[in-house]
Amino acid sequence: MLELPFIQDSTIRFTVKEHLWFLNRIKPIENRLSYPISDIGSCELFWDKNYGVKNGVLGSFNWLSPKRIKVSILGKDSPDMIISTIIHELHHKWQWERFKFLYPFLAIPFVRGFALERTALIIENEADELLGLPGLNSLNDNNQH
Ligand SMILES: [Zn+2]
Repeated sequence: MLELPFIQDSTIRFTVKEHLWFLNRIKPIENRLSYPISDIGSCELFWDKNYGVKNGVLGSFNWLSPKRIKVSILGKDSPDMIISTIIHELHHKWQWERFKFLYPFLAIPFVRGFALERTALIIENEADELLGLPGLNSLNDNNQH
């Protein structure tokens, strides 16, 4: 995301307390996931006021600003529900770190589903199971398994 002053920003940076809350829940399970994720400690996390409200998007990773992960503002009130979304995006960040210049090609439509999303959805569901949570995605979409 570009930080241009004339573009209204829909994001709010996580507080240190919020960041640590998620770090403390993700660190104990990250080694139990079938695929790696990037270090949450190396990320900047943001709430997005539009995500999950104006559209169905719960989170995003953009290789143009690869330190940043944005998740739905809905997670501010229901943080448990957004843990697996953060893990999903941390996996995309790991994919970018691994594939670098290939990542934009893997992210194009039709290729993306198999190349990037398949493993992200697997560990997202694993995370919810490890945490004993239904997860926002599971509630909204039963077709992700
Ligand atoms: Zn994804």
